[in-house]
Amino acid sequence: MIEKKIHSLSVWCFENLSGHEGIDHFVTTRRGGSSRPPYNALNLSFNVGDDPETVLNNRTTVAEALGIALANLTTARQIHDAHVKIVSEALRGRGSTDYQSAIEGTDAMVTNVAGVCLMVLSADCVPILMYDPAKEVIGVVHAGWKGTLCLIARKTAKVFQEQFGSSPHDIRAGIGPSIGPCCFEVGPKVISQARDRLGTSKEYIRNKSANGKGYFDLWGANLRQLVQAGIPEKNIEVAQMCTCEHADVFFSHRSDKGQTGRFGAGIVIR
Ligand SMILES: [Zn+2]
Repeated sequence: MIEKKIHSLSVWCFENLSGHEGIDHFVTTRRGGSSRPPYNALNLSFNVGDDPETVLNNRTTVAEALGIALANLTTARQIHDAHVKIVSEALRGRGSTDYQSAIEGTDAMVTNVAGVCLMVLSADCVPILMYDPAKEVIGVVHAGWKGTLCLIARKTAKVFQEQFGSSPHDIRAGIGPSIGPCCFEVGPKVISQARDRLGTSKEYIRNKSANGKGYFDLWGANLRQLVQAGIPEKNIEVAQMCTCEHADVFFSHRSDKGQTGRFGAGIVIR
């Protein structure tokens, strides 16, 4: 990924999604907003206990810097499940200024409606941005370990193909900053679920210890899902940025002991 400074705001962009005329995209950091600890500073979530007015100010700062109308920012009530929502014109801007109006219970959104900025919110969970320049379709995914085990990334890629006629060879994807296999220690229960759902735990659980714990590679598991959906690996960029190790730059649920804000990963068709 590459860091871009827009006015005083710092955002991160995927190299493989940059240079496409048809879209804008971004991953925000925790820097540059006005939220107080433990949400300091650029918290974009209305659902973590932060002051709503401050969150709205933060979102306005981001929208203005990126040249996106706040009214087009479209978010969901994320529930760590595998539902993929197709965002029609009627859903444009849901959740832009409050939590209640956010799209109900979904962790992935796909649209071909120009100007609708799809955004997922994250602090350790894996944000994924997707784009098919041939069919002009975009998607966002929020995949924590539960969503990863529900195969939400693969399901989203399938929605591109089945609902929008995308060829997987055309789809580009970026796997964003999130907790890495360096830090994401999980217990035997998660490891056994990973084995059941992903077919193997060997590939995705590293450094298993005698007490049955290990380190879950969410990046690899989501990369594999996208490849299984037919997307060429060369079309997929993995940020390789661990939020837990860079908790000064990104919000990290684990590093901040559960009390923290959320950064945003978004994409919009121009
Ligand atoms: Zn790490």
